[in-house]
Amino acid sequence: MAKFVFVTGGVVSALGKGIACASLGNLLKARGLKVVLQKFDPYLNVDPGTMSPFQHGEVFVLEDGAECDLDLGHYERFTDIDLSQINNLTSGRVYETILAKERKGEYLGRTVQVIPHVTDEIKRRIMLPAKEDPEVDVVITEIGGTVGDIESLPFLEAIRQFRLERPPADSVSVHLTLVPYIAAAGEIKTKPTQHSVRELRSIGIQPDFLWCRTTQLLEEEARRKIGLFCNLPVGHVFDGRDVESIYQVPLNLHEQNFDRLVCEHLQLETNEPDLSPWREMVGMILSPPATVKIAVVGKYIELKDAYKSIIEAFIHAGIPNRVGVEQVWIDSESLEGDDIGDHQMAEIFAGIHGILVPGGFGERGIPGKINAVRYARENGVPFFGICLGLQCAMIEIGRDVAGLEKAGSSEFDPASPHPVIHLMEKQKGITNLGGTMRLGGYPCRLAPDTLAARCYRQEEISERHRHRYEVNNDYRERFAKAGVVFSGTSPDGQLVEIIEYPEHPFFIAVQFHPELKSRPGRPHPLFRDFVAAALVHREQGICAETRKGSA
Ligand code: GLN
Repeated sequence: MAKFVFVTGGVVSALGKGIACASLGNLLKARGLKVVLQKFDPYLNVDPGTMSPFQHGEVFVLEDGAECDLDLGHYERFTDIDLSQINNLTSGRVYETILAKERKGEYLGRTVQVIPHVTDEIKRRIMLPAKEDPEVDVVITEIGGTVGDIESLPFLEAIRQFRLERPPADSVSVHLTLVPYIAAAGEIKTKPTQHSVRELRSIGIQPDFLWCRTTQLLEEEARRKIGLFCNLPVGHVFDGRDVESIYQVPLNLHEQNFDRLVCEHLQLETNEPDLSPWREMVGMILSPPATVKIAVVGKYIELKDAYKSIIEAFIHAGIPNRVGVEQVWIDSESLEGDDIGDHQMAEIFAGIHGILVPGGFGERGIPGKINAVRYARENGVPFFGICLGLQCAMIEIGRDVAGLEKAGSSEFDPASPHPVIHLMEKQKGITNLGGTMRLGGYPCRLAPDTLAARCYRQEEISERHRHRYEVNNDYRERFAKAGVVFSGTSPDGQLVEIIEYPEHPFFIAVQFHPELKSRPGRPHPLFRDFVAAALVHREQGICAETRKGSA
């Protein structure tokens, strides 16, 4: 029988609930338990797939093609467990299921209501991961939003009922709050936490553990006070101080015995975890012997959450290379316009050891991305293109190397006489936007003796996708003559998945999203080797400088 952990948040949003859940998952797994994590989001979209990155941050894609909340990315990275569609639920999905049943007549004669029908559906979904896999020991469910929001009420009510229907040792409630520090008074304030817990208790949920986010150390006295007001022993109030790296969080929680106490509460017998490999990895993340600078040329750069998995994939890639990767964010629109010549580009990219062009949608910022590709290609700067980044690389090489002056993509240039990127055959005629892209894991065959094959050291790989457009096969021969190698394709050879340009020290672009599969203990081979190439580029630069200096 599985046990259940519920994680709620109070006072403000963005407290790092996702990281807290992921960290607990990490620790429970290290204790030998089989863990599943899931996120319930109270908004009405069926999934986040149709939301703007500015609204929601990155849309994380799972192996089965589910478009989901970026917290599932943290769950996968911290536990190294692949999740699926059932692990992300929204109010929209709950209502979609209920309304479909209502139309089929399954509630015939009855009034369909929030209680019991919505709460029953939520309870069914709480159980689902354990039902699908009877070996699961613990299901951790994170409730998005903040306690007190109208839209999260049905979820909290479902948790209240769920807990009431089972013995106390079957579930545990963890509540995250903020303990602000008032600089003028030189004091931390516990009142917002007291109010948040009171709100939760008024719904009928007494938290078993409190995790308080602070900038200062939460002294025992403060924890005792919080415990007193919130009906908890002092040992159940945890200090969630800001840390430099999110990967330190499991270590911090473990130092405070959080995982042991959760297991005791759930009456789970486990061994002490061996966290030494994780600790060693964190050591390298925090103090790498050297750094490389990678420019990320995107258009959602004001909201770094839009590139969450890329940021994390670079952190992972630094570990085996023993470097820290400093990411320099460049707004692709700043690389556009008449005043941007070679000189300006060289100034902008001075001191940069690698250029990454990430994914994206629509026309805005495309000329700047194409300029970034050109700069990387002409100057031998290691280049890595992802999804839209591959499409921009095709356009750039088409225009500047393959003699197709007007090469374009039919996504943002429908009249292009040379649509080197065009809509995929299977996408034609699709009118609905939600969940209709080419999504999830697909196999890809690598050509031998290519950069891709050297990175992966495998012949067949599987990577996750999220796109509608692809390389137009009519132009493949022309590009091959211009020196492009199509080093990865779908097994039937029909879809181009990887391109490279071997005349260059490191130039590779992929149609999929490798960042989604990078894990701290298993950095993605393309990110790893791109960072290695950036390191070589940096060292060559240093050598050139030294030669100049000694001449
Ligand atoms: N907009 C492009 C497409 O749909 C690229 C998508 C992406 O970068 N994820 O094909």
